[in-house]
Amino acid sequence: MPEHDVLIIGAGLAGQRAALAAAREGVSVGIISKVHPVRSHSVAAAGGINAAISVADDWRSHAYDTVKGSDFLGDQDAIEVMCSEAPGEVMHLEHIGVTFHRNDAGELDLRAFGGASMNRTAYVADITGQAILHVLYEQLMKHSSSVERFEEWFVTSLIIDDDGGCAGVIARDIRTGRMETFAAKNVILASGGAGQCFKPTTNALICTADGITQAYRAGAPLMDMEMIQYHPTTLAENGFLITEGARGEGAHLLNSEGERFMSKMAPNKMELASRDVVSRAEQIEINEGRGVGPDGRGIYLDITVVPRKRTLEALREIVNIGKDFAGVDITREPIVIQPGQHYIMGGVKTDKDGRTPIAGLYAAGEVACVSVHGGNRLGANSLLDTLIFGRRAGEHAAARARSLAMPSVSEAQLRRDAEMIEQIIARPRAGRRISEIKEELGTTMNQHVAVFRDEQGLTAAREVVVRLKEEAATAYVDDRGTVFNQDVLGAIELGYMLDAAETMVVAALERKESRGAQFRTDFPERNDAEWLKHININCGEDGEPKVSYSPVTITQWQPEERKY
Ligand SMILES: Cc1cc2nc3c(=O)[nH]c(=O)nc-3n(C[C@H](O)[C@H](O)[C@H](O)COP(=O)(O)OP(=O)(O)OC[C@H]3O[C@@H](n4cnc5c(N)ncnc54)[C@H](O)[C@@H]3O)c2cc1C
Repeated sequence: MPEHDVLIIGAGLAGQRAALAAAREGVSVGIISKVHPVRSHSVAAAGGINAAISVADDWRSHAYDTVKGSDFLGDQDAIEVMCSEAPGEVMHLEHIGVTFHRNDAGELDLRAFGGASMNRTAYVADITGQAILHVLYEQLMKHSSSVERFEEWFVTSLIIDDDGGCAGVIARDIRTGRMETFAAKNVILASGGAGQCFKPTTNALICTADGITQAYRAGAPLMDMEMIQYHPTTLAENGFLITEGARGEGAHLLNSEGERFMSKMAPNKMELASRDVVSRAEQIEINEGRGVGPDGRGIYLDITVVPRKRTLEALREIVNIGKDFAGVDITREPIVIQPGQHYIMGGVKTDKDGRTPIAGLYAAGEVACVSVHGGNRLGANSLLDTLIFGRRAGEHAAARARSLAMPSVSEAQLRRDAEMIEQIIARPRAGRRISEIKEELGTTMNQHVAVFRDEQGLTAAREVVVRLKEEAATAYVDDRGTVFNQDVLGAIELGYMLDAAETMVVAALERKESRGAQFRTDFPERNDAEWLKHININCGEDGEPKVSYSPVTITQWQPEERKY
């Protein structure tokens, strides 16, 4: 049985940064990923990472912008940690080999991003996530004597011991189908987000809420699950992301009348207001008949106003995406975009060191909710979140490991998970297909749990999710083998997505106000008197979501009206 001081689930930026931090503390580290580490969704991150590194900037300004962006739901103590530690983290990345873009004077270049009061986004063209992920992967090679990698292993559940602490995980070797029990003094969940609960989404196929639901089923609370980010610029047909870097470089948004309609909702920041505000403005144009493209469901993103040379240098990936997936040369004509699901602000509730209320269980990155993003995440604050809280969780878990003995773990849970998989494989080909259920889940969530919401739609969504959970219990798989059986993993992932989607709908129904990404047309105002609080969801003993609340931590910035 593999044993580790710190066992990390996920090898995206949060997981690899946690692994590097723990390895530097000299403890034994295991890192498990269901895909090769550099294929984690972090590799797709394009636009950049925020840090107040310019001499004219101050981390407090970054923190205030983040608090305002969060619509005052973010916890200010955690935001202060993230923003004050950001410059050091970005310089650290530079020193270990990330080739951030430099300006003509040879200094780190910083681009404009939404909701920021000055340019503070460091970037590597529009492949920033890829650049950082590869450097972290290389750096971890230095620690190969203490860091053991389990690439293409799928975690099926967390092990909770009799004292209620986390003592390891059960995982399946995807290549062979062999199950294994992993004992660990500490487990860090870094297993990413839940975008696949929606269709379309910018998120990779692997973003299926695994860690969120594993923690939830193990008894950990989820927080801010109603806060789902719709990114203002995704390709209409397939959900591909067109980075906010495009608007950062100066691109305009236009309606069918050729009007820069952002002047109505954000006269000062225009296209660079926060994402919730821009997505809402676009959806209003579309709903009121001023959309463009097929069925008028889109908006023009006009990048031709950016000098062509600059676009080819700083936005080269989206030049390719425009050509390959929309047949448009973005340097010469506008491209049709629409708001699309992109990110989940909520997740497993943690403190500033990544600790969950379950002893020995940490979470960091998109799976977690610290909460630094509150009701709305600013662009380029997520890469920062993964690195800062990944590192802090890694360091904290390593220190905790020193005073603990390795837990002794039985094989009972492995047998239970193996049986669960055998039962899925043995299902008769009678029920619905996994893919059909996933499709219905995605389109339902995208219809009712999107930019605008109301009680009727959310109630309908909940009914669909509850029915789909029943149907998923008998859904069949075609592949009955053991080698790379992605079919059976798809069935397990569907279960994770359905549980997570249910908590999103329950939280969105619960919050009877409009704040950040949650806009309730039946409660259109923000209501600080009643709703300046987090919604937490626990899994009840009957398997049903149970709602409770926790206070928002306010240090220096009192809630005020949000204007851009
Ligand atoms: C297209 C796109 C562009 C983006 N651009 C930016 C940007 O420019 N700036 C920014 O700040 N943010 C950006 N974001 C958001 C940001 O990239 C993500 O929030 C962040 O990278 C998430 O990192 P993570 O380490 O938490 O998870 P991920 O990178 O998603 O990694 C999750 C890991 O968990 C593993 N895993 C999951 N489930 C299991 C399981 N059951 N068993 C074993 N392993 C498992 C996966 O294999 C993977 O290694 C972007 C997101 C997208 C989708």
